[in-house]
Amino acid sequence: RSDAEKFEFQAEVSRLMDIIINSLYSNKDIFLRELISNASDALDKIRFLSLTDKEVLGEGDNTKLDIQIKLDKEKKILSIRDRGIGMTKEDLIKNLGTIAKSGTSAFVEKMQTSGDLNLIGQFGVGFYSVYLVADYVEVISKHNDDKQYVWESKADGAFAISEDTWNQPLGRGTEIRLHLKEEAGEYLEESKLKELVKRYSEFINFPIYIWASKEVDVEVPADEDGDEDDSADGSSKEETEDEDADKGEDEDKPKTKTVKETTYEWELLNDVKAIWLRNPKEVTEEEYTKFYHSLAKDFSDDKPLSWSHFTAEGDVEFKAVLFVPPKAPHDLYESYYNANKSNLKLYVRRVFISDEFDELLPKYLNFLRGLVDSDTLPLNVSREMLQQHNSLKTIKKKLIRKALDMIRRIADEDPDESTDKEKKEDASSDNNEKKGQYVKFWNEFGKSIKLGIIEDATNRNRLAKLLRFESTKSDGKLTSLDQYISRMKAGQKDIFYITGTNKEQLEKSPFLERLKKKNFEVIYFTDPVDEYLMQYLMDYEDKKFQNVSKEGLKLGKDTKNKELKESFKDLTKWWKSTLSKDNVDDVKISNRLDNTPCVVVTSKYGWSANMERIMQSQTL
Ligand code: ADP
Ligand code: MG
Repeated sequence: RSDAEKFEFQAEVSRLMDIIINSLYSNKDIFLRELISNASDALDKIRFLSLTDKEVLGEGDNTKLDIQIKLDKEKKILSIRDRGIGMTKEDLIKNLGTIAKSGTSAFVEKMQTSGDLNLIGQFGVGFYSVYLVADYVEVISKHNDDKQYVWESKADGAFAISEDTWNQPLGRGTEIRLHLKEEAGEYLEESKLKELVKRYSEFINFPIYIWASKEVDVEVPADEDGDEDDSADGSSKEETEDEDADKGEDEDKPKTKTVKETTYEWELLNDVKAIWLRNPKEVTEEEYTKFYHSLAKDFSDDKPLSWSHFTAEGDVEFKAVLFVPPKAPHDLYESYYNANKSNLKLYVRRVFISDEFDELLPKYLNFLRGLVDSDTLPLNVSREMLQQHNSLKTIKKKLIRKALDMIRRIADEDPDESTDKEKKEDASSDNNEKKGQYVKFWNEFGKSIKLGIIEDATNRNRLAKLLRFESTKSDGKLTSLDQYISRMKAGQKDIFYITGTNKEQLEKSPFLERLKKKNFEVIYFTDPVDEYLMQYLMDYEDKKFQNVSKEGLKLGKDTKNKELKESFKDLTKWWKSTLSKDNVDDVKISNRLDNTPCVVVTSKYGWSANMERIMQSQTL
């Protein structure tokens, strides 16, 4: 159109679109779930606004919050429309082209190496997947605050926007028209679209309809043969007369006859009953998995590692479903302290309120996915007021409890984790599936548990139970504090650990000589975060932690030590004065060495050598 305003895509977006449009990626199906997910988001937004202002919904058809799919086989157009919030002209310019989401370049890079588009929704650029199947796309949109506009692009680096003066008025919402590529003909088949909605969009909370054709029998007057062109054809008439003659003798001539006709009607494709309202006993594993996929926009083949579906009763009532994802999201620890990345969706009485409520879970549990639906929270207040509502504290407390229980269950059900021999022996096939699950969890999310120990004093002990590490006795595997304690020697009071860059280096440490010889177990902490962790984790089950490279190491009763102290008094004195006060605090007889003659130890409250190293690397 000549009067259309032209725009260029932001460079990253343009690169992404080039990759998509030229992609040989085989699973092109994903575009539909991305469009449906966007429609659902837009419907959530208008429904949320309508809580405080009923007017926004308008009247008549505009009040119907649904999603409609329609096909035009002749023109090869597939369209998806919603009555959601719609987009103003400015929204169209910003959201569909000129501003790239933060994850875009990361995704483009990933795409170039893996070619896997499956995760596109997680990176906030799902819309562009339309170019897997279409070479020309129109987005028609009407927002309450603006006129109706058309956005269009052939993915050639530019898009155009015009005021819409030729299409049917939408009332409110968005219609996406895909002009399908030659090779994408399968998306003109109703059956294909129905199958895709069932597979990927079953848990969308708004009705999804398709304009479906149906063969119906219609009665037409027999003498005016349904099809006009055939009316002169005598033979067909005779046939009907014959049939009728068998039925009854009364009438010489039949008055009507039945012919097939194609009609169209809206067919509902999903069951909008929310899964979290159902009885957990009646929800299958497969349903939870599919629900997780749609919630997390994670359409990999992996099952979530665990889930918890429960109803909280009492002062604050709510239902919740929590999931531990199979993998950590790409940006989990990026800007951990200032980004708002809660992944829980908050609903109040079935109405979606927000997925940006960081009051629901502490930061260290941001890797969880799920939703909370509360009957106690008020519906008709602003998000800000809701954020300060007292009940949120109670909800948060219960969610943390349930989340930690759910994580502990992964370990409890994992036969590899069990120290109990009996349990191991009757490991059923069911248990086999759970085998190794906790190691998987630990490798993906272990750091979050450590951050939890640092940040959450209330649940420190519960979190410490979830801690895993290697030790001088763990035999290359991961072990836990409980297992450590079960192996402690008689008379051993403290839990010993050592910190450093890697296990190989630590194994050779002179600090371990005597401990190893005397058969004491020592934990290896090799993650930089471990140094911080151990500043917060002082004790566990009445046992103190002792860094073996620090002052204060006690290996049970040692009478020899006193004698040694006496006989070497002169030497230690001389040494101390020679090294001077600026270099060492004290020189002592050591109980931790075997072959090595001497070692530098950190004072009890000072930084360990490893911590010094970490601090240095951070300031450099
Ligand atoms: P995401 O959904 O993760 O934000 P998308 O690429 O799928 O990323 O969509 C980009 C943006 O375009 C959305 O955030 C939204 O603002 C806008 N958008 C897309 N589809 C619709 C729609 N049907 N109605 C209203 N806005 C939409
Ligand atoms: Mg989207």
